[in-house]
Amino acid sequence: MRIPLSRPDVDERDIEAVTQCLRSGRLSLGPLLEEFESKFAAFIGTRYAVATSSGTAALHLCVKALGIGPDHEAITTAFSFVASTNCLLYERACPSFADIDPHSLNLAPDEIRKLIGRDYVRDNRSGQMLNRSSGRALRAILPVHVFGLPCDMVAIIEIAREFDLRVIEDACEALGAECRDRRVGSFGDAAVFAFYPNKQLTTAEGGMIVTDDAQLASLCRSLRNQGRAENGAWLLHEHLGFNYRLSELHCALGISQLERIDELLSGRERVARLYARGLADVPGIEVPTSRFANAKRSWFAYVIQLLGPSPSERRDELIKALHAKGIDCRPYFPAIHLQPYFPKLRLDSPGALPHTESAAARCLALPFFPSITAEQVHEICAEIGGILGPADAPARITAQPCRVAQAEMTQ
Ligand SMILES: *Cc1c(COP(=O)(O)O)cnc(C)c1O
Repeated sequence: MRIPLSRPDVDERDIEAVTQCLRSGRLSLGPLLEEFESKFAAFIGTRYAVATSSGTAALHLCVKALGIGPDHEAITTAFSFVASTNCLLYERACPSFADIDPHSLNLAPDEIRKLIGRDYVRDNRSGQMLNRSSGRALRAILPVHVFGLPCDMVAIIEIAREFDLRVIEDACEALGAECRDRRVGSFGDAAVFAFYPNKQLTTAEGGMIVTDDAQLASLCRSLRNQGRAENGAWLLHEHLGFNYRLSELHCALGISQLERIDELLSGRERVARLYARGLADVPGIEVPTSRFANAKRSWFAYVIQLLGPSPSERRDELIKALHAKGIDCRPYFPAIHLQPYFPKLRLDSPGALPHTESAAARCLALPFFPSITAEQVHEICAEIGGILGPADAPARITAQPCRVAQAEMTQ
């Protein structure tokens, strides 16, 4: 494609940092791992950070380290990348899908409450919330900050306290996003970030767990390194662990990228503003926005929702037309419970998820990366405007704009 969906922002400083690491002779479990972890924890505002080989590995370790297993369920969203659900399935725990807010596309706190009221009952002896049909205990909430928009973590934490649930934030798309003046990733018992090349910060492949819990951090550190004791002998394994380590090369890139995180994030904001301006007069589309005050978005992807009837058919036409012009774009996300692998798991079928399924049929991700030019964004917007046209415009759903969205309007 002439204009790709994403492109990593790697500069000469990044290349120099990785080259220096290569020359150092220390390629794994060295000083750069510790440096990346401590600088990352400081950036998010947590006590500890544990780097892993991917975001998926980080999610898996959180689930495992929090003791979530075959007798347990966790409330999460089906409008996400599969990893946020798969991490539960790896441990034979069961995802329990709550519906999303149709405007922010994030897990909706009132939908979580509805789901708990419908499917769970408090066990008088243990105080645990048990699923009425499966009998499994509800152990956690796993919210995903979709497309860099923060979930309402204050409301989610309140629910977690009320029902004694752990919280794992999937913040893989939301590095730098804030919820009521605190960075996402600092709310849950643990949170996870990812550094695949399309993310705000990349290490090529990589992930990070952040937490304030010393024991949890220590257990995750052991589990990523074959269950070894943290300061113990190389061939002493205290747990059934994994090799989920992140190499020094990856950490060198991560440190270098973190040093210019403001530049990386503002580069994305610039592109988002270009799109907001370019699509302002195109009818029948909506860009997801936060639904509560004091939410700061970190731009991960530029996703539009097509409003009106038969959205997926119209989306297919739009994709075909854009592809024909060499412009990449993709339906994002398809719903997890509708993926081909999901029915094969033979889980209890999820209840109705109308907003999740609607979003999955309407959402389209457009090319989005810091080095895209204003001319390219202009061309993409003009192409979309030409197809969706000003004629017979379906009514706009108006969403409460968040702080950043308002700033965009005035710029
Ligand atoms: C990127 C991402 C992950 C983790 O992906 P990896 O490729 O394993 O690093 C997890 N959840 C979400 C929502 C993501 O976007």
